[in-house]
Amino acid sequence: MTTVRRIGLLAAVMATLASGCACRDLTGRLAADVHVPERPVLMIFCDGVQKARFDQLLQAGRLPNIRRYLLNGGVEVRRATTIMPSITYAVTATLLTGRTPGHHGIVDNAYFDRHKLTYRDFESVHNYTHVVDDFQDRTLYEMAPDRYGASILLPNDRGARRSFNNVMKVGAAWFLGLMSAVDSLTTLRMEQLVREANRCGRWPDFILAYYPSADDVAHRCGADSEAYGDILIHHDLEVGRLMRFLEKNGLLEKYAVVWVTDHGHTVCRRGIQAGRLFREHLGIACVDSQYDEDDSRDAGRIEYFLRLRYIMTPYDRDTRRYADRVCFFRDKRCVVVPGGKRKISVHLRIGQDDWSKRPTYEQIQSFHAPAGGRFSDRLLAEESIGLVMIRDGSDAVHVFGKDGHGTISRTRSNGRPAYAYRIVEGADPLHYVDHSPAARLVGSGPHSGQAWQEATYETFYPDVIGQTVEMFEHFRTGDVGLAAPGSTRPGSWTSFRRSCP
Ligand SMILES: [Zn+2]
Repeated sequence: MTTVRRIGLLAAVMATLASGCACRDLTGRLAADVHVPERPVLMIFCDGVQKARFDQLLQAGRLPNIRRYLLNGGVEVRRATTIMPSITYAVTATLLTGRTPGHHGIVDNAYFDRHKLTYRDFESVHNYTHVVDDFQDRTLYEMAPDRYGASILLPNDRGARRSFNNVMKVGAAWFLGLMSAVDSLTTLRMEQLVREANRCGRWPDFILAYYPSADDVAHRCGADSEAYGDILIHHDLEVGRLMRFLEKNGLLEKYAVVWVTDHGHTVCRRGIQAGRLFREHLGIACVDSQYDEDDSRDAGRIEYFLRLRYIMTPYDRDTRRYADRVCFFRDKRCVVVPGGKRKISVHLRIGQDDWSKRPTYEQIQSFHAPAGGRFSDRLLAEESIGLVMIRDGSDAVHVFGKDGHGTISRTRSNGRPAYAYRIVEGADPLHYVDHSPAARLVGSGPHSGQAWQEATYETFYPDVIGQTVEMFEHFRTGDVGLAAPGSTRPGSWTSFRRSCP
């Protein structure tokens, strides 16, 4: 590293530490002649909040600002579930478009495109802002083009008139693991918005403030760690700063404030190491993420950042010509895409078929199976795999557990989808039969997606039935989905809305 670069990085870090502190309130004051919309909306998006830990801290009085400003006098959505897969980039695209991953196409934090032959990883520094290039649906900002939308830190910002993505400050803080400083910088952007409003005379109709740190800490330390509790408590301080800022500017009662998270967190000590599993245990030559073998918890912070964030896959669309990618993938039979180690997507190429042809259920089951056996049985023989889901055409998915097999099927009536779930053999892999509201729907129907959501909310696999078929609809989802044992619960999605006067 050159001296100039070192000084630049040091200066950025010092600036981060100085400005990102949550200990002081925001100072910006809106000028009297700034036009403020009738019903402005602030969405506070805290990534990866586990409901159980959140409730525990709330009850212990450790989240006083969330209690005071959002819950008291607000509305809590208690029985909401997140989408499948419950992974940040997929959920964020849903949050902004209203469509599920199988329809908007951002099916994970990384995906393989069997038509373009690209392996896109959004967790790379090079790629994280390119998510907006990879889906076509209109975002919230584009649905209301006459409104002034501002996005703070969220890479998924297409259509926002003002977007903050300060790589220098935020990147430096992230690089060094100063996650509370990363979150504080999001809050601090309000001061810049005030300065700009005082210049142009207009305050945003909608502001989305993104807080990524809880998720990062949960991945590194676990959602049951002290560090995770601390970062949620710090998030509460940021909520307090935001609310007092609105209060001091006389905006609090005018504002609709929505607090939202994208998914929960399941403590999963042993995930699936997909590349190793396919290559060493199954003997299948596969393409996978370079970072799969790294256990980020054991790596040092900077090493973790460099491995996970800064290396680009060699077959990304921006690094290779199409002809090179065709050559690269021509002799490959399998591509695995890890999603946080607890959920893996597998794409298969059968025989001499072109990659663009999706295999049938029968072809998948005989892909790599012992004589007379099934691929699903071979996969489930692995201790690290608890659930295998296999696509069967466009309207059915088979679900295999260690002790049984069920099928999910979709039909349409008057254009609306309905879903049936039947046990084919052995025990119910989703264990719905142990929960009477869900058990009533098993083997009957079809039933609406909402009926399944309501009936399965209390189970370990909430809202999986309709969402699974919809998830496999997109070719980027792959042909086979694997989940680690006891780790697929998507986690409930809690949101609060401050009531408007
Ligand atoms: Zn997330």
